[in-house]
Amino acid sequence: MHVSAYAAQSATTPLVPFTAARREPRPDDVTIDIAYCGVCHSDLHQARNDWGNSKFPMVPGHEIIGRVTAVGTAVTRFAVGDQVGVGCMVDSCQQCASCSRGLEQYCEKGSTLTYNGVDRRDGLPTFGGYSERIVVNDKFVVKIPDGLDLAGAAPLLCAGITTWSPLRQWNIGHGNKVAVVGLGGLGHMALKLARALGAEVTLFTRSPDKEADARALGAHHVVLSTDSAQMKASARQFDLIIDTVPYAHDLNPYLPTLALDGTIVLVGYLGPLNPPVNSMLLIGGRKSVAGSAIGGIAETQEMLDFCGEHGITSDIEVIRMQDINAAYERMLKSDVKYRFVIDLASLRA
Ligand code: NAP
Ligand code: ZN
Repeated sequence: MHVSAYAAQSATTPLVPFTAARREPRPDDVTIDIAYCGVCHSDLHQARNDWGNSKFPMVPGHEIIGRVTAVGTAVTRFAVGDQVGVGCMVDSCQQCASCSRGLEQYCEKGSTLTYNGVDRRDGLPTFGGYSERIVVNDKFVVKIPDGLDLAGAAPLLCAGITTWSPLRQWNIGHGNKVAVVGLGGLGHMALKLARALGAEVTLFTRSPDKEADARALGAHHVVLSTDSAQMKASARQFDLIIDTVPYAHDLNPYLPTLALDGTIVLVGYLGPLNPPVNSMLLIGGRKSVAGSAIGGIAETQEMLDFCGEHGITSDIEVIRMQDINAAYERMLKSDVKYRFVIDLASLRA
């Protein structure tokens, strides 16, 4: 089938209208009319080939919400009309040690990404959510709880799960102190989720004007990371720091703010650290630097159900598909409160 979409044709040109070829649905496929798609900083990294592995044309978008319009004969968990979501992955090997543990994001054979990937069965390129319709293996489709605003729920599929997974992995709850570095899409979800899990929450930001918002989003404390006196006053505090900054930056100033046995988990920047980490700051306090990628499908459903119970969605600015290039420029300036979400009705108009 052919669907209307927006695509990057190269790393240096704006996104433009594009007709994407999607496979005809298989017996285990769910066909989804996309209502909303969040705009992740990863979309921008990939469209501009920041990670060096981009394939063009590319239809970005992995925070997908919509309604089921058809199900294959082997699909039992979904029916026409269901409101569903699709995140960063659309398939995995389903057999390796990671997949067996529900950790499809760490599939030993490589999970199939929602876009800029290759379908494991037919070898065709995968195209993401900046489009009117998507066809996805039912194991990689999740249910959106009733009562959540659909546009606001879209960013849960990436920004939500990427921050939820480390909070759960490090058993964060009452009595823990958590800090978040960077108040963007991931950062604002980290504040909301850590707060809802019962932690005492701090935001590290470069942007003094974000303090009031940070508190409204759930932060008990806000520390200006460019102010060395404020950084010193935060020494030995945090059990977990979730670092969402998208570009290379100095981790060393954050290490003294970790408590004994504390961990800073990188979810934002992908690449060699520069400047290097000073191990002295880790050894004196048995501290760790870790990384984490999105979350598994079962964990994504767990996070969505938690958000349903607690009424948690993303704070969003809804845009038209046609405004995507301007949205990317604003994201580069950290000018987004706190996630752009595309209304795909604009593509059908
Ligand atoms: P975003 O909305 O653009 O937010 C990033 C925030 O980081 C900004 O708002 C800003 O916050 C801070 N920041 C930006 N540039 C900075 C710099 N040069 N130095 C220091 N701070 C800076 O981005 P996002 O959508 O949340 O994504 C964040 C990163 O996570 C991206 O690199 C994305 O690719 C990655 N990601 C990873 C995963 C995963 O599975 N690990 C999943 C999704 C996304 P302040 O103004 O508060 O300082
Ligand atoms: Zn993302």
